[in-house]
Amino acid sequence: MDAQLAVIGLGSIGSMALWQASRLSDSVVGFEAATPAHGRSAVGGDTRLFRMIYLGRPDYYPIIERSRGLWAELEAETGQDILTTTGGLSIGTANGSFINSLLEATRVNGAEHSVLSREEMAERYPQHNLRPDDCAVYDPRAGVLRTDRAVSAAVAAAQANGATVLQNTPVDSITETDHGVVVTSGDRTWTFEKVIVASGGWSRRLMPDHLKAVTETHRIVLTWFIAEDGTQFSPENFPAFSRWYEDRSMYGAPAVDGVTVKASVDGPLAGRARATPTRTPCPENSPGKKPKRSPRSSPNSSPA
Ligand SMILES: Cc1cc2nc3c(=O)[nH]c(=O)nc-3n(C[C@H](O)[C@H](O)[C@H](O)COP(=O)(O)OP(=O)(O)OC[C@H]3O[C@@H](n4cnc5c(N)ncnc54)[C@H](O)[C@@H]3O)c2cc1C
Repeated sequence: MDAQLAVIGLGSIGSMALWQASRLSDSVVGFEAATPAHGRSAVGGDTRLFRMIYLGRPDYYPIIERSRGLWAELEAETGQDILTTTGGLSIGTANGSFINSLLEATRVNGAEHSVLSREEMAERYPQHNLRPDDCAVYDPRAGVLRTDRAVSAAVAAAQANGATVLQNTPVDSITETDHGVVVTSGDRTWTFEKVIVASGGWSRRLMPDHLKAVTETHRIVLTWFIAEDGTQFSPENFPAFSRWYEDRSMYGAPAVDGVTVKASVDGPLAGRARATPTRTPCPENSPGKKPKRSPRSSPNSSPA
């Protein structure tokens, strides 16, 4: 047996699993096909929205509450700023299904919030171009996560606890045997008591057949816009937001770099949305190949 536990994929989920496992045992190994927090993983794109109130999911609340505590512990352990509380706005039609479902979630879990009328929104957040019947639910504990920092910090904290991290080591197969779980990468083989698979968008090829059949991978595109006045969109002045109109939604984050505001349409792109992930997460950055341009969309001149 090489170790008690292997974690396959050190992105958002795997890095945190490795960190938590490393608190319980120093017999843990993390495998990462590229390098942790690389730009083609779901970690890429500067920030992720962190909200206490989720549409139709009041049951998330205790999990999110626990994760707040863990982000604070990771910040304290590594000295990194990971979660910035900016507050969060969910904007939609007053008495429409989006706003009503959010309010119903707060009734179930007691999440702190306030409702802002169109007039209050216009006064406090003139950055948003509101419709006549819009209002917003304000979540004072929402914010943005710096995902790349979080992943790097969790991997570093795990290593400090004694975990082994194997970078540029794509796992090819995982096989359960009577003597443990056998993991291969190229011509190398390891055996573990248990394995956590956290390979994100590339998971399909490592999954058992019955799970492959129900798994699809889609590409999600993020967009940023250059603010004419960066201070209006700073984390202090512009909360993270999501916005619904009829059946469409979008979301965004303040200008954490002081210049670009994230404002993106929610969900996969219609039509040519299905992605065909390459065999390894980072083929264009492999040794000897010139890195291609970042997939970050070109910023336009004004926020959506
Ligand atoms: C554009 C976009 C916007 C999002 N916005 C939000 C948001 O605002 N709020 C929110 O909460 N969530 C958001 N999400 C969702 C969230 O970011 C993802 O759910 C989360 O990052 C997924 O983490 P993961 O660990 O599954 O995948 P990843 O972070 O992609 O990690 C997978 C890792 O596995 C590695 N890997 C793959 N195959 C192998 C292999 N064979 N061997 C070894 N390593 C391997 C990869 O290199 C990668 O590092 C968003 C996602 C995207 C894509």
